[in-house]
Amino acid sequence: MGTSFAGFVEDIRLIDHHVHGAYGVDGDETRFQNSLNEANSEPLTEPSAAYDSQLGFALRRWCAEIIDLPRHVSPELYWRRRSELGELEISRRMTRAAGVSHWLIDAGFNTGAMLDPPGMAETAGATVREIVRLETLAETLIQSGQDPGDYVEAFTALLASRPRIVVGAKSVLAYRAGFNHDLSRPADRNVAESAKRWRQRIESGGPVRLDDLTLIRFGLHCAISLGLPLQLHVGFGDRELDLDRANPLLLLDFLRSVQASRVPVLLLHCYPFEREAGYLAQAFDNVYLDVGLAVNHVGVRSRSLIARSFELAPFTKILYSSDAIGPAELHYLGARLWRNAIAAIFGQWIDDDEWSDADARRVVELVARENARRVYGLP
Ligand SMILES: [Zn+2]
Repeated sequence: MGTSFAGFVEDIRLIDHHVHGAYGVDGDETRFQNSLNEANSEPLTEPSAAYDSQLGFALRRWCAEIIDLPRHVSPELYWRRRSELGELEISRRMTRAAGVSHWLIDAGFNTGAMLDPPGMAETAGATVREIVRLETLAETLIQSGQDPGDYVEAFTALLASRPRIVVGAKSVLAYRAGFNHDLSRPADRNVAESAKRWRQRIESGGPVRLDDLTLIRFGLHCAISLGLPLQLHVGFGDRELDLDRANPLLLLDFLRSVQASRVPVLLLHCYPFEREAGYLAQAFDNVYLDVGLAVNHVGVRSRSLIARSFELAPFTKILYSSDAIGPAELHYLGARLWRNAIAAIFGQWIDDDEWSDADARRVVELVARENARRVYGLP
């Protein structure tokens, strides 16, 4: 008698294909509470309300035991114990308990409080690879001494010379402009003009944040021309994003283009558009999806979310991700809730003899690691 199906799901090592750094420095309880709310980009007026949520409940249920507390412990006791241990110890325990062998980190957003990729590798005792955030790369370039008239060549050279640790590119187009636009490759001349305008805006005291659609489109196509797997933020995020313009169906024209068909396109998070994303994964050979981020935020209801992600999408097109950032409870919970959901959903299908045990194990392997390994060319 081998391992049970539930034991198999428990033991499998995951590739978290889209995640950010865990906190490396201590912070106050307000920082912790605020990081349990994704959609509100302002500091919460009543931070303790963050505990009264699916995420807050899941955290007290599942993370308490990692820090030697009884399950469902009160938020007060949880916070007290957390403070005793310190942020780095929390990050060490939670990331190690997640059972993740590879973290693919988007380090493009870091307030300075998060561990950088080498710090994550050391703390988690795991392999780290990087996903370069195209808009962050552009913001670095425009602030350098580079002539904005040479933006096309300079950006291309910068992306082409990326360190070997980089295995893909990510865009936050959803945040900066939305998907409801012509996303074809802009002419080089227009890119240079946009870069000049952007540089002038910065020199006259304007914001560095890239929101120029021409330059964002150029970034996407530059990554495609270099053959990098392309991650796109889709759906749920903070309120700076227009959620209705982050619906992946708005990407149809882009996905139908010859250029976009040349690289894997990974639709990240997707909630509440996981069914639309599943459709696109069936419709296009090169489209993949995950339901990370929302898994944590919907807590116990992630069983229903994860079940929906197993509707139209071929099983070779679904990936695991936590999209965790900041408190490492999120790095752990993503994996914990995923394992809980998969064991329950697939376990039921096995019990009902809808799926064989062998088929279920094969799909777990695909989604937990094989699909990511193949897409990103990991050894
Ligand atoms: Zn992310």
